[in-house]
Amino acid sequence: MDFVRYCLGMSNGPLRYLYVDMNSYFASVEQQENPALRGRPVGVIPTDTTHTCCIAASYEAKWVGVKTGTSVMQAKDICPSIQLVLARPRLYTQYHHRIVDAVESCLHVDEICSIDEMYGKLMGDERQPAQALALANKVKNAIWRAVGRYVRCSIGLAPNRWLAKVGTDMQKPDGLVAILPEEIPQKLYPLALRDLPGIGKGMSRRLERHGIKTVEQLCQLSLKKFQQIWESKVMADIWWAQIHGHDLPSRATHRRTVSHSHVLAPRYRTDHGARSVMARMIHKAATRMRTLGYWAMHMEMTVKHTDAPRWTVKTSLGASGGTNDTLTMVQRMTELWPGRHLGVPVQVCVVLYDMVPEGSVAPSLFEEPRKHAKLAQAMDQIDKKYGRHAVFHGAMWGAQESAPTRISFTQVPKESDWD
Ligand SMILES: [Mg+2]
Repeated sequence: MDFVRYCLGMSNGPLRYLYVDMNSYFASVEQQENPALRGRPVGVIPTDTTHTCCIAASYEAKWVGVKTGTSVMQAKDICPSIQLVLARPRLYTQYHHRIVDAVESCLHVDEICSIDEMYGKLMGDERQPAQALALANKVKNAIWRAVGRYVRCSIGLAPNRWLAKVGTDMQKPDGLVAILPEEIPQKLYPLALRDLPGIGKGMSRRLERHGIKTVEQLCQLSLKKFQQIWESKVMADIWWAQIHGHDLPSRATHRRTVSHSHVLAPRYRTDHGARSVMARMIHKAATRMRTLGYWAMHMEMTVKHTDAPRWTVKTSLGASGGTNDTLTMVQRMTELWPGRHLGVPVQVCVVLYDMVPEGSVAPSLFEEPRKHAKLAQAMDQIDKKYGRHAVFHGAMWGAQESAPTRISFTQVPKESDWD
């Protein structure tokens, strides 16, 4: 019970975090850039094909039921007047950097959580509700001045980072919500379990199996019950503390997967095309994993077809304890790739999982893997210096341009990443 004593001993304190979440970010940037799109339903799509889905929707589109993830065909069905625009990741990155600078001019940004989310810690008097609200308004004005009034944000103020993020979800668009210690946890009761960051489909099903269907029921559980449900003491402790407003020291996040998927443009919808793009996805995932400093123990590859069931295969990466190098993974892909024609491929996906920090992996005893690891490192350095695809694996030949730099939800590219 040390942990509980530690939490109870801590002052709940007033407001400690200011969290900024941009509203319908990509769609708002498009509306800001193009006055003809303002006030109209807009869907942003990653590729110019009907087999893709909206990666963002403007509020006008959301009001009639188009969401992130709605397929193009469905979106046109629900909202025939929808304006579909091709994503411009480079532009969203430029806006992102201007927004970060604008927030930084009011409050130090402690962490950029994604292309459209960031937070800062409140200090001294800023922790008082009146000052915190004034600061939040200052942040909103700074963003408007920097990028325009059509790019709006919701701001959450709370005693911990997680609750501040919850606050951004409570009022959209253009929200400003403070969750005061004395309002915890009642203020959360109107939310659905799935509204809480970190509760996905799987977790909400598990909660339901334990008879928990509302946020109110969840908030009333004992720490012991949390531990039974989460089956992990660490996770249960974190959840119990954050939902009750305690500010936990941030711990390094444990990344366990890196994935990349890509909807194939029509010209790549062949066996050879899918295979080249898969190699390219493996290269991208492996590069990201190396940047994060991890090795993967397993890899899963999936190819979706229009006229046949999907092909999925899971494989272990190296008996000697995983790998971080592209070549080993591409070779494994080549070995496992189906010999016969399965159908028309439309999407490929790779997931590297069971990742372990680099330092915890014993260097390989075998000459071959050691060479591969060196080669991967050298390729990363060349790519860094001379731009992406200065060198690439033979298996990717013809697909270098098939999957342009995209913005993942956890890593925002630098300006130079686009060149
Ligand atoms: Mg957002």
